[in-house]
Amino acid sequence: MQEEAGPGAGEALEVWIDQDLCTGDGICVQYAPEVFELDIDGLAYVKSADDELLQQPGATTPVPLPLLRDVADSAKECPGDCIHVRRVADRVEVYGPEAS
Ligand code: SF4
Repeated sequence: MQEEAGPGAGEALEVWIDQDLCTGDGICVQYAPEVFELDIDGLAYVKSADDELLQQPGATTPVPLPLLRDVADSAKECPGDCIHVRRVADRVEVYGPEAS
């Protein structure tokens, strides 16, 4: 049985940040430093699986399953409401301001 409850469990997910709304407080970096990093412009960006900072606005990166909870909490706590976690398969948002 799949015990992991909640949206996105067992599905490939990706995350992106809307930098236009980012306040630069760094909460996401505290939750999941493996996935998020503040750049020198003071805004948060996602990192690739190779730990490379993806500096294009709105870049996406896969959410490693062990980090799903931390990434989901980041999306919930983000003051800018600008962290979007979506299914890779159909791009439906599962955590973030557009999640149902
Ligand atoms: S939690 Fe949200 S607003 Fe804060 S730095 Fe991260 S993306 Fe930006």
